[in-house]
Amino acid sequence: MGDDRVKNEAMEIMGLFQLLPRLVVFDLDYTLWPFYCECRSKREMPKLYPQAKGILSAFKDKGVDIAIASRSPTPDIANTFLEKLGIKSWFVAQEIFSSWTHKTDHFQRINRRTSIPYNEMLFFDDEDRNIDAVSKMGVTSILVGNGVNLGALRQGLSEFSKNHSSSVKSKQGKEKSWKKSSSSETEDQ
Ligand SMILES: [Mg+2]
Repeated sequence: MGDDRVKNEAMEIMGLFQLLPRLVVFDLDYTLWPFYCECRSKREMPKLYPQAKGILSAFKDKGVDIAIASRSPTPDIANTFLEKLGIKSWFVAQEIFSSWTHKTDHFQRINRRTSIPYNEMLFFDDEDRNIDAVSKMGVTSILVGNGVNLGALRQGLSEFSKNHSSSVKSKQGKEKSWKKSSSSETEDQ
């Protein structure tokens, strides 16, 4: 499937959901591309997973921001590859640095840079320890087994809308009980 066909299909999938995340964050190694970039030379021409570019481009067209959170120890190689692929300017935030935490500090920086709350974000990564840590922050986090593809996209959007509607419901519940208690206070006066 070419990039355009993937993009069209991704746009169709996005159209099925009333609510989309405001920001979608991608890992690099084994999520957007099928290798560790630290083992590669900057002189090489990198390749993304076959459906990755179409999906990134569909988010762009839908007006959904995209960002990178990578623990790669070679940000210079990662950046060169993103340039070569012609997608570097697509990302509103690029946090590429090695770290002892499982990307919680990457997400804190992304949150500071974009002011987008964690529950409005969707994250794709191939390592379950990153998924565990970041989902505890309130980000809908999807483990990918074979890079980002249309299946992972569909799963991500559907989990995002489930998480989001349950967080909105619990917020409404809190507001209701607050209103009740504040109105009974006025009755008492
Ligand atoms: Mg990875």
